[in-house]
Amino acid sequence: MATSKKKLIIANWKMNPTSRKEAEQLFDKVTRGVKGVKNVEVVFCPPFVYLALAKQALNVKLGGQNCYFEQKGTYTGEVSPVMLKEVGCKYVIVGHSERKKYFGETDEIINKKVKAALKAGLDVVLCIGEDSRDSFDTRGHWTRELDPVLKDQIAVAYEPVWAIGSGKTNAGDAASPDDVFSAKIFIKKTIGDMYDRKTADKIRVLYGGSTDSKNAEGFIRDGQADGLLVGGSSLKADEFVKMVKSI
Ligand code: PEP
Repeated sequence: MATSKKKLIIANWKMNPTSRKEAEQLFDKVTRGVKGVKNVEVVFCPPFVYLALAKQALNVKLGGQNCYFEQKGTYTGEVSPVMLKEVGCKYVIVGHSERKKYFGETDEIINKKVKAALKAGLDVVLCIGEDSRDSFDTRGHWTRELDPVLKDQIAVAYEPVWAIGSGKTNAGDAASPDDVFSAKIFIKKTIGDMYDRKTADKIRVLYGGSTDSKNAEGFIRDGQADGLLVGGSSLKADEFVKMVKSI
């Protein structure tokens, strides 16, 4: 996943919507709405149960919201990266803050998941970000989180926990383009120090946290983000299409 001119916009539907009909409508409205947009790669990350549905009905790029670190076996309730690949996923989100908060994911688990996903041939979107606006100094910790950046199929999503609307699309809480720019520099420098400049150059840095059609362009232009990881706004077809077109 080398840095490309195309911006990567990822729709993270989280645990929504609750009906197949709504999922179909959302896929359909968004794909029709963004048809012809050339400079943006739109990726849908619906709940697992809608992945096959989307692949059969539409020619869309898909990603998983999570995966397990084993390829198969006696792990009730888990979905492996090989399975995601099999149903047509190109991407998988790993280490989302909600996985850490509600499911106890640790850096160690996340590292294993990244490695397993890369092994299965998926491109990984690795989430990192500090918990509060006052904790920028905890970024030293990112060295550990960025540890599995071994190959170039990784995008890093800067997702400060304090800016994530958790489905509320609380746009006033988003970070500023300057925050995003400084995080991007920090991420690139950290990766450059851990590996080399070439690796750092290849990694795409996305921003996620209360993005919408009004602030998206600023994160891309002024914040220099290579794309966006979108939660709440990705569930509103018109708003999401507007966002994609604003870039
Ligand atoms: C997210 O949880 O990844 C996210 C960015 O959510 P939202 O856009 O709703 O803040």
